[in-house]
Amino acid sequence: MTCPLCDSERARASWLGSVFYRGKEFPYVQCLACNSLYCNPMPDKETLAQMYGPEYYDGSYDTDLSAEGTKDPLEVVKWLKKSGGGTFIDYGCGTGALLTEAVKLNWEAIGVEFDEEVAKTVEAHTGAKVVNSSIELGGEPSADILHLGDVIEHLTETNQQMPEILRLIKPGGLLLAQGPLEANTNLFAFVLRVARSLKRSRRTEMAPYHVMLATAEGQRKLFERLGLKELEFTIHEVAWPAPSRLSRSELRRPRLTGLFVLRRLSQMSSAFRPSRWGNRYFYVGRRDSQAARQQ
Ligand SMILES: [Zn+2]
Repeated sequence: MTCPLCDSERARASWLGSVFYRGKEFPYVQCLACNSLYCNPMPDKETLAQMYGPEYYDGSYDTDLSAEGTKDPLEVVKWLKKSGGGTFIDYGCGTGALLTEAVKLNWEAIGVEFDEEVAKTVEAHTGAKVVNSSIELGGEPSADILHLGDVIEHLTETNQQMPEILRLIKPGGLLLAQGPLEANTNLFAFVLRVARSLKRSRRTEMAPYHVMLATAEGQRKLFERLGLKELEFTIHEVAWPAPSRLSRSELRRPRLTGLFVLRRLSQMSSAFRPSRWGNRYFYVGRRDSQAARQQ
């Protein structure tokens, strides 16, 4: 298989090695062209069904924007305001906080959420239409803005899935995308990687939810080769997986304090390389009307 981000065939064993889930091994390789890591082979349908079973959802339906975790909902809201109105699709809408905001701003809001139960609950909570497959949208381009928040890193077949998703955007419409850059350079990632290599023998038991760990270069390359015209690509650094603040009792826990301090140092060092270092991206691109006609 090729790199799910830049499509290069050249890869080698990665510093992450393999993760193990339910007795299966999932090796991560490093793309030699964009330095992103990806799972090769990708988890199969059976494994995906286990991974995204009922226990994947924690059952909470907080539709408040603050429940968006490391995502930046306000940046999306900014674009919704700026673009005036139309149809907004939140592809992978989670608890639907952004749908609620879009409805408030008089957008026609549609959520795509793969778990049927979650889709129903979110629809009831937000007043927006929530479908559990994009097929229900008829496959016609309908979105003036489509948002992919922390979705792409879960896709096991980007070369098929991304064009399908982008076809939901009207020619000239916008893709807003954001997500982690887990293989991108920052001090925090570097120190953790070195620490990991010192204890090579440890077996990592973890579901391969993120089937790719992107660098900024790989992430941008994906959008570029999909024919999108980049309007914005910014990188920032969030605390996660380190804590973003420490309570008094947590201050007595050395590992937690260590991670907290390391992240702060990392954020400071990344601030000097604003367009290169960090661990998350926000992207805005326009679907070219020319490319849309060719599809
Ligand atoms: Zn690549």
